Amino acid sequence: MQRLALFDLDNTLIDLDGAFRIWAEEFAETRALGREAAGWLIALNREDLPHREAFFARVRERFALPDPVEELWTGYRRRMPYLVHCRLEVLTGLSDLRAAGWLVGIVTNGTADNQLGKIQRTGLVDAVDAYALSGIEGIRKPDTGLFEIAARRCGVNLADGGWMVGDHPVADIGGGHAAGLRTVWIDRRAWPGHEHSPDYVVTDVIQAIDILRDANE
Ligand SMILES: [Mg+2]
Repeated sequence: MQRLALFDLDNTLIDLDGAFRIWAEEFAETRALGREAAGWLIALNREDLPHREAFFARVRERFALPDPVEELWTGYRRRMPYLVHCRLEVLTGLSDLRAAGWLVGIVTNGTADNQLGKIQRTGLVDAVDAYALSGIEGIRKPDTGLFEIAARRCGVNLADGGWMVGDHPVADIGGGHAAGLRTVWIDRRAWPGHEHSPDYVVTDVIQAIDILRDANE
């Protein structure tokens, strides 16, 4: 199998939940929303609403905010790239993979400004061969098309196989499997009730990188 490794971004290569907690505390503090607000925002985030617009509609209603939903969401997208970081060991793991002859890509759902900002600010832009963002391409995981774009940008054909690593059972594992890739699921105990059948289950992306390296030796 060719050495193609595709990774999800949020809560796979970067700790989005950790960054979200910081954002929630900042947001609550700046707007003087009270002691319970940050916890409420974090709990709402766990509900995994279908879209951030739906999230901010609930936030606006709950705190009777004057700002339009679109502005709240824009402010969030502008801030988040500054709150996320990629652990040095993850950046090193990716560069070790590439040194061993792997092609490495990011396949992520989200708006162009937010996802691109995070990829650039974390240094991941220099640690991978290519990325495919749903907000730019107009296709979302689990659609195979987004995996195809990432593979092509890495200079290879998706039909020749590879790996997908991610935390979302449907978008990453279901999507990766449908794209003909072997899959490593990062189990964050966050998706009760979702069906999935990954080839491997780990709790951290570093373990996934180790599996890839061993599998193709
Ligand atoms: Mg994710």
